[in-house]
Amino acid sequence: MTPTDRRWDVGIVGGGIVGLATARALAARPGTSVAVLEAEDRLAAHQSGRNSGVIHSGLYYRPGSLKARYCVEGREAMYRFCAEHGIRHERCGKVVVATDERELSALAELERRGRANGLAGLQRLGADELREHEPHAAGIAALLVPETGIADYPGVTNALAKLVAAAGGAVALGARVTAIARETGGLVVETARGRVRCRHLINCAGLRSDRVARLAGVDPGLRIVPFRGDYYELVAARRSLVRNLLYPVPDPELPFLGVHFTRMVAGGVEAGPNAVLALRREGYGRLSFSPRDALEVAAWAGTWRMARRFWRTGLGELHRAFSRRAFVRALQRLVPALRDEDVRRAGAGVRAQAVERSGVLVDDFRIVRAERMIHVLNAPSPAATASLTIGEAIASMAADAFDLR
Ligand SMILES: Cc1cc2nc3c(=O)[nH]c(=O)nc-3n(C[C@H](O)[C@H](O)[C@H](O)COP(=O)(O)OP(=O)(O)OC[C@H]3O[C@@H](n4cnc5c(N)ncnc54)[C@H](O)[C@@H]3O)c2cc1C
Repeated sequence: MTPTDRRWDVGIVGGGIVGLATARALAARPGTSVAVLEAEDRLAAHQSGRNSGVIHSGLYYRPGSLKARYCVEGREAMYRFCAEHGIRHERCGKVVVATDERELSALAELERRGRANGLAGLQRLGADELREHEPHAAGIAALLVPETGIADYPGVTNALAKLVAAAGGAVALGARVTAIARETGGLVVETARGRVRCRHLINCAGLRSDRVARLAGVDPGLRIVPFRGDYYELVAARRSLVRNLLYPVPDPELPFLGVHFTRMVAGGVEAGPNAVLALRREGYGRLSFSPRDALEVAAWAGTWRMARRFWRTGLGELHRAFSRRAFVRALQRLVPALRDEDVRRAGAGVRAQAVERSGVLVDDFRIVRAERMIHVLNAPSPAATASLTIGEAIASMAADAFDLR
């Protein structure tokens, strides 16, 4: 069915994993019709298809936060979904490694958070025990997290789209939303594939969610600031340096996890991502630039307040973006045997990070209601892990707010 054929109960902007999980949860409700509008010519073209592919455990997040709740619940839902739909996945576990004394208190805090979030299998490792799990890792202590795993998120996104279509919904590609207006009893959405009418709208536009909110006449009170993450991969002959997933202790001030090693479901081991302020929202190259995106980042007071706080970290990340040697040095803290020639450049992803006017990087998921609309304004990592639970939560919020049958 094409999206212009009828008036839908709910239109969803964005064919990433969050939009499709939401569409699937809504389409499963008898009597609710759903159309997903995706700008690109394929699903999962941005964050959902350009990430580390990790099923996060729920270790990092403040107990009681949406991230903690949705990640822990969503992780198990994701394992089940992948098993049911024949999507590649593996519960392989990971280790978080402290490489010097100063990181021990942060490692202890991670363990405390993990236990508060209900992680049952956490295990503290000494240096020798660490090497039983990861023979090439160096560290003075580590945390073993057996609940962590890996998955094929584009595979999940496409499986969700099939379920939406099977339930009578529409998933339209090449349907960039360019304008949103109100009409009696609903909304008129202008897209590159024509005019779509719906009674309600859910904005899951990721890197452009703030813009879509503004198109709909809603002031999001924040801006999406894009942070690019570059990846390297281990050359085939050196993949044995890493067995599973190997992470540093993250800086508790930042929402990013630090460059790590990740075994991928398709084979191979990736290293990264760093986190560099990007001058283009969907800019995957080091020199990617969009005048509009760059101007918006520069004009937002929150960017400068954030920069004042984190300029030193930011410069380090920028250096690592252009210097392979600096990138490898960061990785060598975890695996000292790694050499420059053991890695080659792989892809990149761009994170949609909401930043408030005050310069605060929004830490938790942020989902905001407006008349006839719900806007997902911050859904960074672990939103792929948590997507099925986020989708269910948005669907029940929608059933309530939109008075769906
Ligand atoms: C480098 C990186 C590593 C990550 N690693 C992990 C990880 O290991 N585990 C994990 O759980 N999470 C991870 N994440 C986070 C995770 O990928 C995201 O949180 C998740 O994919 C967000 O999904 P989404 O659907 O909200 O956004 P997206 O996948 O970005 O989807 C938004 C969609 O909206 C579309 N769109 C935008 N504007 C319009 C418009 N006007 N009209 C129509 N469509 C529009 C876009 O084309 C896009 O397809 C990572 C993210 C990045 C960037």
